[in-house]
Amino acid sequence: MASLNIRNVEKHYGDLRTLKGVNIDVEDGEFLVLLGPSGCGKSTLLSAIAGLAPVSSGQIVIDGVVVNDIESAKRDIAMVFQSYALYPTMTVRRNLTFGMRVRGASRQQQDEAVKRVAGILQLDQLLDRKPSQLSGGQRQRVAMGRAMVRQPKIFLFDEPLSNLDAKLRTDMRAEIKKLHLREKTTTVYVTHDQIEAMTLATKIVVMQGGEVQQIGSPQTIYEHPENLFVARFIGSPAMNCINGTLKLEGADAVFVGGAQATAGLRVNLGAISEGYRPYVGKKVVLGVRPEWLAHSADTTSPELIQAVVDVVEPTGSDNFVILLACGETLMARFAPGVGVTGQRVGLAVDLSKALLFDATTEQRIAR
Ligand code: ADP
Ligand code: MG
Repeated sequence: MASLNIRNVEKHYGDLRTLKGVNIDVEDGEFLVLLGPSGCGKSTLLSAIAGLAPVSSGQIVIDGVVVNDIESAKRDIAMVFQSYALYPTMTVRRNLTFGMRVRGASRQQQDEAVKRVAGILQLDQLLDRKPSQLSGGQRQRVAMGRAMVRQPKIFLFDEPLSNLDAKLRTDMRAEIKKLHLREKTTTVYVTHDQIEAMTLATKIVVMQGGEVQQIGSPQTIYEHPENLFVARFIGSPAMNCINGTLKLEGADAVFVGGAQATAGLRVNLGAISEGYRPYVGKKVVLGVRPEWLAHSADTTSPELIQAVVDVVEPTGSDNFVILLACGETLMARFAPGVGVTGQRVGLAVDLSKALLFDATTEQRIAR
């Protein structure tokens, strides 16, 4: 168990700045997820923590000790990669204990470690099999077990589930979560999958282009994204982001937008707040998640967004409904059975949730 601090870390490959001044604090027992699109620097940061590649500048601190000059093997970290890299000719048991044997652990120590890990990961019945006799999920568990025999200070995972099919991925996700709840080992987990991030993390770091975009709990990242990149990256289907202008009507802040300038899409945001006041007359982006749009049969009220249903995508538990309003395409999440192609509907925006962004800086405007 350990804390981890990443202080102003830079990593350059020639002229390419792969990590740009990254600062992250991970408390003892936290499950930190690094989330971002492919190429944003997640694996580079993980390698820096593991000590597999030196950083260009900045510090990696584990339990208060700067480890930049401590070699990987001495950092007491265990890493699980996307490719499990099991030894094909060895049994599960020997795969699990390989590292221990190399370090000269006694037979008894090996047996105890195998017993503990096999129990946690339900590998007891598989110990005498070879990797070729295991399913993808079982191989994944062996790869995790190999990392766990050591009871390291920190677990690092680099997209460990991305080679598994959808069902197994969901099962293994739950296994990893249970394991963390039980063992509470400080974990840094890399993924580009936002569902994995939302379900596993105690804290998410959203990265783009080698920079941290936001750090926060899954709920904070979902409900209060700090900029349009985070807003659009998190959530499926994605947040509706509508370009427009903020106006003052009496005491109310009113968003007017939509692709058709003539028939503006109008949303009264209520009494203007101090945060919104400087943006009157400025270009803004209204952010509304699909479930923040409520369906109404009132197709005349000017207080609702009047829209026409274009496409209905039933998922069983929800209807994802694509609507057209003032030239804008909107996505709403309705109850099953709600929404028929061609139908006119009124849409009410959940004003307690809707977000406003500065169209120029793309930063969220605090109310
Ligand atoms: P991610 O894991 O988020 O997909 P990576 O950390 O693997 O991203 O890579 C980030 C960027 O650094 C990419 O543009 C990649 O091409 C570059 N990069 C990674 N490793 C090297 C390397 N050894 N030499 C040069 N460029 C690298
Ligand atoms: Mg990677």
